[in-house]
Amino acid sequence: MLTDFERKKRKTCRFCENKTLVIDYKDEKLLRKFLSDRGKIVPRRISGNCAKHQRRVTIAIKRGRHLALLPYTGEVYR
Ligand SMILES: [Zn+2]
Repeated sequence: MLTDFERKKRKTCRFCENKTLVIDYKDEKLLRKFLSDRGKIVPRRISGNCAKHQRRVTIAIKRGRHLALLPYTGEVYR
């Protein structure tokens, strides 16, 4: 049986892998992939990003939130 760590360690940062992928705070679709369904930023151990790119994603998300492109919180379950 594979542990969580073994399953994820091979996954490399998608921004390092794909040089054409640019982190842009206006790119709502891309940034939403790094938000959980509750609007939280997905941690690095799950997103698989490297430190450099995770930081850029975080900054972009925060910028996007300020411009109301991205939610601060997810859908409210009622
Ligand atoms: Zn990277």
